[in-house]
Parts: sequence; C-alpha cells; structure tokens
Amino acid sequence: MVSNDLHRDIEAVLLTEEQIQRRIAELGAQISADYAGKELHLIGVLRGAVMFLADLMRHLTIPCSCDFIAIASYGMDTKSSGVVRILKDLDDSIQGKHVLIVEDIVDTGLTLNYILNLIRSRNPASVRVCALLDKPERRIVPVEIHYLGFTIPNRFVVGYGLDYAQKYRNLPYIGILRPEIYGGV
Ligand code: 5GP
Repeated sequence: MVSNDLHRDIEAVLLTEEQIQRRIAELGAQISADYAGKELHLIGVLRGAVMFLADLMRHLTIPCSCDFIAIASYGMDTKSSGVVRILKDLDDSIQGKHVLIVEDIVDTGLTLNYILNLIRSRNPASVRVCALLDKPERRIVPVEIHYLGFTIPNRFVVGYGLDYAQKYRNLPYIGILRPEIYGGV
C-alpha cells in the first residue's frame, strides 16, 4: 500500500473536518436567515473556494445560483505579489442581483479588494463577502468580511481547497504546511 505523503507534509492540523463543517452549517443558517425572501447569487473565487462554496451552498435554504471568477494570486510562491489580474471572468451578468462573494482566505486583502471593486462596478443589488479564513495580521487593504468562518494566525495553511503548488487541496482539514516544504520559516 502506498503511504499518504500529503499528511506527512503537515506540521499541525489547525481546523479539523468536523470544526469546518460545523461552522459552515452555522454560516449557512445565518446567511439563509439574512436573505430570507430574496435570491442569492454566489460568486466563488477559483480555485481555493470551490470546496467551501459547494459545502456552504448545501446549507442554504433560500433560492441561489453560482458563478466563478479566477484571479491570479500566489502561483508557486507563498508571498503575495500584489499583482492581481482576471484569469477567468464571470459568465453571467450580476446586474440587480444580491451577490455573495465566497473566498477561501483573506490575507493582505488585495485580491478581495480588487474583486469587490470589480463587482460593485457592475451594479448588483447588494454585495457581501463570506470568507472561510481570515489572517488579519497581514492586512494591507482594509476589507469588510460579513460572514467569517475562522480567524487564524499568520501561518501558511493548506487543505480544504487551499493549495501549495496546486497540491493539498484534497485534504479534508486545514493544516499548517511544514515550512521546509516551501522554504519558509
Ligand atoms: P490576499 O490577496 O488577501 O493577500 O490573498 C488572498 C489569496 O492568497 C487567497 O485567495 C489564497 O489563494 C492565497 N493565500 C493567502 N494566504 C494563504 C495561505 O495561508 N495558504 C494558501 N494556500 N493560500 C493563501
């Protein structure tokens, strides 16, 4: 049998699968209550938010639709370059829709700030942000997160959609990557 190398690259589990799923159920209930009587259009930020959006959507009891946007971020590096550009734009118009941006993690805030400005320029009825993780210590641009899963320390994390060099997204938990894997400290 082949051993599972992914787990061995994890220094510590920060959030277990159970903790993540319990919190997402709470967020789903809160969002469903807040948008009662309305329709919600979820915009997932590829690729890290895919698992979060899929799980969150299953806890929404209001009518909802989804679309995806892809923004250039860290690539092979773990430090923010500050360079933000669209790799894949939305497929559908958001004019007059209640939009909820679904993000995996907010770090410097540069990505979310860029997406918020882009979305707001397209005349939605409203825009809010739902992020699974927040690393407030590294914020450069202030951004309002209306629905937040967890505040975490300033460590590089992987799992549950979050990658390093496209790996580890399939871990069901959020873990701290061993610094020697990415040459960090
Ligand atoms: P920001 O623009 O806020 O600095 O960065 C947001 C993006 O950076 C996230 O969507 C994510 O792709 C990436 N990122 C920030 N911190 C981490 C982290 O700890 N782990 C991983 N895998 N990606 C991160």
